[in-house]
Amino acid sequence: MLDYPDITSCILWFAGCNMRCDYCYNPDIVFGKGKISVAEALTFILSRSKLLDGVVLSGGECTLHKEIIPLATAIKEMEMLLKVDTNGSHPERIRQLIAQRLIDYVSLDFKAMPDRFEAITRSSLYKEFEKTFFLLQHSKIPFEVRTTVHSALIPENDVMLMADHLVALGYRGKYYIQNFVGDTETVGVIQQAHKKVSTLRYSNPSVEIVIRS
Ligand code: SF4
Repeated sequence: MLDYPDITSCILWFAGCNMRCDYCYNPDIVFGKGKISVAEALTFILSRSKLLDGVVLSGGECTLHKEIIPLATAIKEMEMLLKVDTNGSHPERIRQLIAQRLIDYVSLDFKAMPDRFEAITRSSLYKEFEKTFFLLQHSKIPFEVRTTVHSALIPENDVMLMADHLVALGYRGKYYIQNFVGDTETVGVIQQAHKKVSTLRYSNPSVEIVIRS
């Protein structure tokens, strides 16, 4: 009831990720090899296809797996809705999913401004993120942009700069902010966030900042 807006869904967490965000609370997924096969996942979804409206492909980074194309095809054949959660690092896979009309909704992580992207994600994948953003922007697929905020990594003022950056890229709509929770093991060694974003006075009406946590 949480992972796909207004839809009853199940979520598949794909093992592996090409980023290493210190605040990531899924180290077992990021460093793991996975526990069930795609075929087993499909069997499970089929058994729930009359109970659920949709499926969320998440991770880790689900777009790293080429198997998501046949998997998404099979899910769509069951007439279920499909959402993809992505860090935006594999635009080619997103392009394929769009071209084959396999996705209905995307949550795109905007990790950090270009000059902070490598420090936050331990990757040099900002350009890929931007390509994915523009692919979605020019498609008819509804999508949202979201950012996880840890106060030591992304201070409140940076959130405003990131919102401005999205406006400059042409984004219009809601920009979701998720506060780092910090109640579990993380990928990197990271201190507790000393402050959470609770309200923000952001004045550009093109983008509405929504605090989700
Ligand atoms: S938070 Fe970062 S490391 Fe964790 S799954 Fe997402 S992109 Fe990968």
